[in-house]
Amino acid sequence: MDEERMEVFLDMYREEPPVYIQELERKALADGVPIIRRGTRDLLRYLLRTKQPQRVLEVGTAVGYSALFMRECLPETSSITTVEKVAVRLLDARENLGRYDPEGRIRLLEGDAADVLRQLAAGGNTYDFIFMDAAKGQYLSFLPDVLSILEPGGTLVSDNIFHGGDVLQSRYAVIRRDRTIHGRMREYLEILVSHPELETICLPIGDGVTISTASVHHKTGI
Ligand code: SAM
Repeated sequence: MDEERMEVFLDMYREEPPVYIQELERKALADGVPIIRRGTRDLLRYLLRTKQPQRVLEVGTAVGYSALFMRECLPETSSITTVEKVAVRLLDARENLGRYDPEGRIRLLEGDAADVLRQLAAGGNTYDFIFMDAAKGQYLSFLPDVLSILEPGGTLVSDNIFHGGDVLQSRYAVIRRDRTIHGRMREYLEILVSHPELETICLPIGDGVTISTASVHHKTGI
């Protein structure tokens, strides 16, 4: 099936996000900033509106596009914490969040997610919805902290599990520099699908997405 055609078709049934979100999308795409695809955006909208999580964590803010979109899908009582480490992205993220989230429902944590996640876990913070959208090669190393702050019954959504299609290929078909990411992403998926406390589905939406739901017996802080 032609992917472009499918997207044009689906656009007919997509709820239009607010105009400022559409403008942020246009600008990010023009500037080459990697943001969630429309299919992933639809999935997040559906999950957030139906689950209405209270504490959302995003790993990988970029310029704040998906964080602001998620804010639009949540009740006012929900908060979003988002993590970014790259200075040039942080500049735009601060500006966009300042402009479009004047009440400060989105908290931007600046630093390497490896450190920030460890600190969040050590501080006893927990989240009922976590959106993993940072460096694909690092999902695996983030996972222990991510699982320790995911609440029982909480949802973990991981984006770009196909890594532009590389992860679908044989390890030998991808260039050497991408083999590490390839192997680490496959190991990450193996853990998600076989984890006794998680129910996971892998979906061919956007660049590939997983949804994992923690069992109600899942323990935080371990
Ligand atoms: N979620 C964003 C959106 O859709 O609007 C896109 C995020 S982009 C795919 C991934 C972001 O993660 C990049 O801006 C990158 O700088 C950031 N990132 C990558 N590794 C990181 C790390 N270890 N700690 C914090 N941020 C990281």
